[in-house]
Amino acid sequence: MCGIVGYVGNQQVVDVVIEGLRKLEYRGYDSAGIAVINRDGEMQVRRAEGKLRNLENVLAKNPIEGDYGLGHTRWATHGRPTEENAHPHRSSDGRICVVHNGIIENYLELKRELQKEDHRFQSETDTEVVAHLIENHLRQNPSLGLEGAFRATLKEIRGIYALVAISADEPNKLCAARLGPPVVVGLGEDEYFVASDIPAILEHTRNMFFLGDGEMATLTREGVKVEDANGKLVNPNVQRINWDPIQAEKGGFKHFMLKEIYEQPRAVRDTTQNRVSLDTGHVYLDEINIPAAYFRSFSDIKIAACGTAWHAALVAKYLIEELARVPVEVDYASEFRYRNPILTPSTLMMVISQSGETADTLAALREAKEKACRSIAICNVQGSMMTREADGTIYTHAGPEIGVASTKAFT
Ligand code: GLU
Repeated sequence: MCGIVGYVGNQQVVDVVIEGLRKLEYRGYDSAGIAVINRDGEMQVRRAEGKLRNLENVLAKNPIEGDYGLGHTRWATHGRPTEENAHPHRSSDGRICVVHNGIIENYLELKRELQKEDHRFQSETDTEVVAHLIENHLRQNPSLGLEGAFRATLKEIRGIYALVAISADEPNKLCAARLGPPVVVGLGEDEYFVASDIPAILEHTRNMFFLGDGEMATLTREGVKVEDANGKLVNPNVQRINWDPIQAEKGGFKHFMLKEIYEQPRAVRDTTQNRVSLDTGHVYLDEINIPAAYFRSFSDIKIAACGTAWHAALVAKYLIEELARVPVEVDYASEFRYRNPILTPSTLMMVISQSGETADTLAALREAKEKACRSIAICNVQGSMMTREADGTIYTHAGPEIGVASTKAFT
């Protein structure tokens, strides 16, 4: 898990990227880096081992300016946490830069092939291969441009990724793709953002959407284009995020977890308020999209979740069985699809995930949908993948949760 921020627009790109990375620092602390391209088409890269503060010190000594760019905080999977392995990674000619969250599984084979063609590698990471692959496609067929070369590269890599790439030869353009780790695209006025998580860009825009798996976005000063894996245009589901930027910060507490512990009463209030009538006892869940009569016909409920959400599901089992007298079974989402669960159209499938992006829980949801089950997601992030795939969603209104040990999202 790492942090990615990319920007194109009229603000100082270094400031936007560093500010955004600061909001994502909880995602990685091995190293940090930034690449920007200036009006003369020069790619300028600064990187530093350790916390973001070290990168800021490097930038203070050796400032850079540019029109567009990207940055990264790393949580290493392949290669030690050193400056050489810090992202962004460059192509051999230094004209292309990429940042990546995830793992490229077949990077060694690809790297060997590329080395035979004189590509010089400078890091031990799996990520660097992506910059060289893009370069290679451009060498073979310059008319592909960054977009075409990026798309061709996606077809060659195996693994999971959030990827963003820029080229010094294509001003004001960023290409981003997702398979697994989240990528959020922010729409400002004549400025566009890409990031791993909402808090990174919330200060600049509230209009954003998550890329779907297999989708690719191209950001320019004119706008954003989204395509699926086959190059077909996709109309993104733009959401207006109503989180308060202050909510996404520490708000005077020493660390996020402490702040979030204290936010539990508010989270519960915000989630239940307007949904329960204390006069009549009725509960209103408008977003579940399953007719009341159908709802009454469910014979059993399956809940799949991971980690903290799985523990929340165990509590839900007790409550639902006690109150509704409907049998509930709770599964680890990671095991659900491998055990051939008994699912029928009268089974209600529930999935729980704070982010709405948990890969195993998504897989469990898809399994249930294939077996014709109706489904509900309980989720904290508007527009996330799970909420788009389930029949209905019950949103928790916990606000952003940054502490890795969940508190308010669990409650
Ligand atoms: N696999 C990449 C690396 O080790 C990306 C890790 C990350 O997600 O920060 O550099």
